[in-house]
Amino acid sequence: MTRFETRAVHAGEHRIGPGRESERGEFAPISTPIYASTTYSHHDIEQTDRVLGGEEAGYSYARYDNPTVVALEEALRTLEDPESERETDACAFSSGMAAMHTALTAAEVGAGATVIAADQLYGQTATLLMQIFAASGVQTRFVDVYDLEAVEKAVAESAPRAVVIESISNPLLRVADVPRIAEIAHSAGAALIVDNTFGTPYLQRSLLLGADMVVHSATKYLAGHGDVTAGVVAAVPPYAGAVDQIRKLTGGILGPFEAWLVLRGMKTLPLRMQKQCENAREISRRLAKTPGIARVNHPSLESHPDAELAPKMLHDTGGLLSFELEEASKEAAFRFLNALQVCVRAPSLGDVYTLITHPASSSHRELPASRRQRLGVTEGLIRISVGIEHPDDIAEDIERALQSVGGG
Ligand SMILES: *Cc1c(COP(=O)(O)O)cnc(C)c1O
Repeated sequence: MTRFETRAVHAGEHRIGPGRESERGEFAPISTPIYASTTYSHHDIEQTDRVLGGEEAGYSYARYDNPTVVALEEALRTLEDPESERETDACAFSSGMAAMHTALTAAEVGAGATVIAADQLYGQTATLLMQIFAASGVQTRFVDVYDLEAVEKAVAESAPRAVVIESISNPLLRVADVPRIAEIAHSAGAALIVDNTFGTPYLQRSLLLGADMVVHSATKYLAGHGDVTAGVVAAVPPYAGAVDQIRKLTGGILGPFEAWLVLRGMKTLPLRMQKQCENAREISRRLAKTPGIARVNHPSLESHPDAELAPKMLHDTGGLLSFELEEASKEAAFRFLNALQVCVRAPSLGDVYTLITHPASSSHRELPASRRQRLGVTEGLIRISVGIEHPDDIAEDIERALQSVGGG
């Protein structure tokens, strides 16, 4: 089996095989084309019959699958679970939320079921559970998943259908103990769903740590260039088959152009992640000594609560960091953000350029102030998704902005 970096550039591309006949001879494209076709014909109607009946591999209709989308899915499956004997499968969706919705449905989260979810879960995932799933009779219990005893207790008390966590949390970058949480979930017959958007398969292959389904917002690091919305679920049986079947029926499949963009982005995932992790480490170290900053959160720092666990769960310490301004008010945070010149003020993350946000007024805006406080999302907290720029330009931009607003 080739290594991760090699698979990232080659996996999914169909370069060999029968080739294509044309007046100019036989050829095979080295980059998978964008198959903009809603349906497919075959040699004869008998073959179409076999493809529709599942007796022969093939394509029939674009809501079921598409060669460009399949190329992306094969690449992702190969990155998540390269040597598995299990029939691990990946399915691409039109967004990360569509992927999460299908993963929960595939875990049979329906009327009467309970879900245990991380307290720190991505806001929209929490809202999906509390609005859409709650309306069909699903109960969600939020727990502090960094307290394993609390997880054990919640699972024992409520016999959940699914446990939903994130490999790395937002915005404090807490790291989950996936193998232990998988054990606890499985002891009660629950599926473990890991949202590994912040980690990507470069930092963690959650399925190999015991997750049943791993969900990514491919909008972020996998695509990496801020130009496409997409999601992926990679799952082991029996969930893999269920995810595929639900996607056919609910129609959340990714479009071929978007699939092509994500596949193209994934070729540089290892390069980008390596650089982003390096940059984030260096900037964290520097900001920890910068006047005007009270505290920096990054798993590479000794002060981080998961500094010891992180190397066991992650291949590197990640490209996101957050910090608290000494003057912890919304006004001070906004003044600082407006003074930046290199960092891009915008939500989202995982892009080649550095993105900077104020979680209290963006990702965590909908939460009651008391819940924000409990989660440690203060008015003075700033989150950075570090890009691939020169780290000194980012650090200097932050220092200059702090000085210009009188914080440093
Ligand atoms: C962005 C994000 C999502 C949702 O993904 P979309 O592609 O925006 O639908 C889910 N989970 C996490 C952790 C995210 O950052």
